[in-house]
Amino acid sequence: MDDLIRRAVEDLAAAKNVAALTGAGISIESGIPPFRGKGGIWERFDPMEFAHIDALMRDPAKVWRILVKEMKEIVDSAKPNDGHKGLAKLEARDKIKTIITQNIDGLHQAAGNTDVIEYHGTFAWQRCMDCNQKYETRKVDISEIPPRCECGGILRPDAVFFGEVIPAEAMWRSRQAAAGCDLMLVVGTSAVVQPAAMIPVIAKDNGARIVEINPERTPLTDEISDYLIMGGAGEVINQIVTALEKM
Ligand code: NAD
Ligand code: ZN
Repeated sequence: MDDLIRRAVEDLAAAKNVAALTGAGISIESGIPPFRGKGGIWERFDPMEFAHIDALMRDPAKVWRILVKEMKEIVDSAKPNDGHKGLAKLEARDKIKTIITQNIDGLHQAAGNTDVIEYHGTFAWQRCMDCNQKYETRKVDISEIPPRCECGGILRPDAVFFGEVIPAEAMWRSRQAAAGCDLMLVVGTSAVVQPAAMIPVIAKDNGARIVEINPERTPLTDEISDYLIMGGAGEVINQIVTALEKM
């Protein structure tokens, strides 16, 4: 692993325009469970039953009780870890420009990154299913489930459920960022959720180097990534940033 850390430090030092694509894995060390893999939410229930737009439309109270309420409790108190903080340091050193994240937890912004594309929307806000009025999730009273808007409509996370389209601006800006970078860090994503999994492919097609950070191999590892640094995001990014700071 040390050789690969060194290689990543050299690649980062040489790169002119770095982007990152992050997934649920970068937030695991902040106590937010991923969907897949060990401890993943999917071990306990079928996401298609609860994280699909059809389920939300059919029975919003059920989706709130099983999925959203628990996520609110976890996300409300989660703090950025060394992975998020390291990426923020890379922005402060003018290394990283844009982070494209599949996460909805807001932890990249909390760590200090300023150009974060929330590909799957955000859990920081709820919106009314009738009038679209937005409410900050932390301030939403959940003593009654489902919580409601002033107009009486039911609130839902301002995030993308399975079966919904990616917000157009996030889609367009991610393509721009992927096509324009010369190095992409792909951190903590299983790279199976589409169309997000195409982002590193776009970067690669446009000549970028792809560096994966993940304790497991993914479908990108053999085909798309230049190399995979196997390990947890916090530790690996910490080592890279510390070495880069010494250069
Ligand atoms: P995923 O749950 O499918 O996969 C998680 C990945 O993280 C796996 O490849 C796993 O090997 C890796 N991983 C495990 N521990 C890690 C660590 N310490 N450091 C780095 N990587 C680690 O995640 P996904 O690819 O992002 O897809 C799931 C979808 O679910 C996302 O699109 C996202 O919208 C949503 N989601 C978001 C959150 C969040 O906001 N934090 C949490 C769960 C799910
Ligand atoms: Zn309303």
